[in-house]
Amino acid sequence: MSQATPPASAAQADPIVGIDLGTTNSLVAWCDERGPRIIPDALGRSLLPSVVRFNRGTGDVEAVGQEARTEAVRFPRETVFSVKRLMGRGRDDVDAELAYLPYEVVRGENDTARVRVGERVFSPPEVSAIILAKLRERAEAHFGRPVRRAVITVPAYFDDAQRQATRDAGRIAGLEVLRIVNEPTAAALAYNLDQRHADATVAVFDLGGGTFDVSILRLQHAPTETKPGEVAPATGASGGNSGGGGSIDQVLATAGDTHLGGDDVDQMLIALFQGEIQKQFGAGLAFPPATLQALRTLAEATKIRLSENESGAVEIDLGGGRLYKRTITRGELEAMIAPWVERTIDCCRRVLRSAKLGPGDIQRVVMVGGSTRIPLVRRRVAEVFGSEPYTALNHDEVVALGAAVQASILAGINRDMLLLDVIPLSLGIETMGGAVAKLIVANSTIPCRARENFSTYVDGQTSVMIHVLQGERELVKDCRSLGRFELKGVPPMPAGLPKIEVTFLVDANGILNVSAIEKRSEKSAGIQIVPNHGLSRDEVRQIEAQSLAHAREDMTAHRLIDLRNQARLDIRAIERQLAKVGDAIDAEYRDQVAASVAKVKGFVDAAAPDADAFAKALTEMDHGTVRLAETAIRKTLQDEGLTG
Ligand code: ADP
Ligand code: MG
Repeated sequence: MSQATPPASAAQADPIVGIDLGTTNSLVAWCDERGPRIIPDALGRSLLPSVVRFNRGTGDVEAVGQEARTEAVRFPRETVFSVKRLMGRGRDDVDAELAYLPYEVVRGENDTARVRVGERVFSPPEVSAIILAKLRERAEAHFGRPVRRAVITVPAYFDDAQRQATRDAGRIAGLEVLRIVNEPTAAALAYNLDQRHADATVAVFDLGGGTFDVSILRLQHAPTETKPGEVAPATGASGGNSGGGGSIDQVLATAGDTHLGGDDVDQMLIALFQGEIQKQFGAGLAFPPATLQALRTLAEATKIRLSENESGAVEIDLGGGRLYKRTITRGELEAMIAPWVERTIDCCRRVLRSAKLGPGDIQRVVMVGGSTRIPLVRRRVAEVFGSEPYTALNHDEVVALGAAVQASILAGINRDMLLLDVIPLSLGIETMGGAVAKLIVANSTIPCRARENFSTYVDGQTSVMIHVLQGERELVKDCRSLGRFELKGVPPMPAGLPKIEVTFLVDANGILNVSAIEKRSEKSAGIQIVPNHGLSRDEVRQIEAQSLAHAREDMTAHRLIDLRNQARLDIRAIERQLAKVGDAIDAEYRDQVAASVAKVKGFVDAAAPDADAFAKALTEMDHGTVRLAETAIRKTLQDEGLTG
């Protein structure tokens, strides 16, 4: 994410940040004319684990975030995590939680739930405030000035008391909470879904670390009437209406499970490892806290690796020469977690039923939460709703990004960020040699689609990198990279034979879906991109101007790249033919071919050859080698016994 200093215009006003105060992880984001982005910590990390460790003796905060999380197994009674589960709840409401929380939960004033460490008792908002304060510090370091105002998100099902507790947490952390926004609404806002569809019905599928919820929202964009600095009073906390400027959501239905999340997968893997370790080294083997901690870290890392890769190596040294080692495949993990995934799918069916809607009534499905990166989860959600869910924005950042969008609307700085109805800059992919093939040209109206065929340049190439670019210039280095993905598993074929069809689809929200399919093998891959976030209209204008200024030079450069690519392919073909029938042709013709090849090679290797002369030499070489090609073909046919 960008670390750049904010532009001067926004720098004058006090920044309003958006905060996702999560059960497992929290984040802070900020939004200006260029769109929302996460504010990372000094080490570049965007997620702050929602974990606080207190000193048992003094009650002081000893660690917040990653460090507290990593060491949690060693300090089970001093480490407070998942405090969001206790926010605004009575002590008797949380009985069911106690089995999951190794720290002490006691009864406080008015029968509220409190956390006790040693002699000290903390209210849940106080613990949350420690996390918020950490995020506030992070933002202040980023801006180099105080941050006092924030928008904070909560689950759609939070009641008044839980929302109020969240406000209190903000206040304790020195933040004025301008608005409490529903998490699913924030996710939809991040995708600008409210602005494109007057009455969009959207499903938000949020699978985090310890909780799962799926909501169906009806979204409507309400133009803001608030002026900068004159922020509307917070609306009533109940229900789902986040009201006022920005987005109005109506939560049609929510369903979920407050004890279903990625932590369960970690637990399943830990149990698997422990079972195998005991089988291998004896059932009596104990697991001291340090080992448990290592197992937990290993389990999560393995899970995350299997979201990306088909298999992963697992290795843990248990001391005393005992080494536990195995390989685990994605298939094994999927078989293990399938029932767990089905529980989320059952909730999806339930939420549709209670909203009295069918999958076809849902215009968009948005994926939120780190655990939606698990391929099986995505696959099943796509199957149930019958459409590919939105995944363009980072799954664990999307709620915070949406909170930042809401904040910027309140600050009055973001009214210009409406998505344009046309594609502002051309979109294309990188081709051989650093050229850009444009699929969709600037100013096409959205939605739009374009399709083009490509092939490989190397014999036996089994994977193709698709690099998606935005800009008017002809060369990759002068365009903006939007993302890349790899089409893997293409069966080895001679260069030029694979048929790779690349499709660009920009939907009504300006979200770009790029997919590639190799037609012979049916292998496919793709990505989603939000191309408009991050470029202001001024920047678009500037890029256009640059392109006009460079048009001639760009065209020449592009032409040279094409000529070089073509020349290399042709020379390779000629060399193959010479190897085959070189002896069968007369010496004079052979010399003539060699001379024309040498001439073209000279152009290929020259730093800045004259394009016209290059093209002429290439044409001459091609014409001059027709006889050679014919001879080679005849030989091939003879060899295969197809002709006398
Ligand atoms: P919350 O909203 O509950 O605070 P998050 O949305 O941050 O939680 O999700 C955290 C969970 O996502 C953790 O269980 C983490 O292990 C899981 N997670 C993060 N990245 C991946 C990934 N690439 N594959 C699978 N799980 C992931
Ligand atoms: Mg979350």
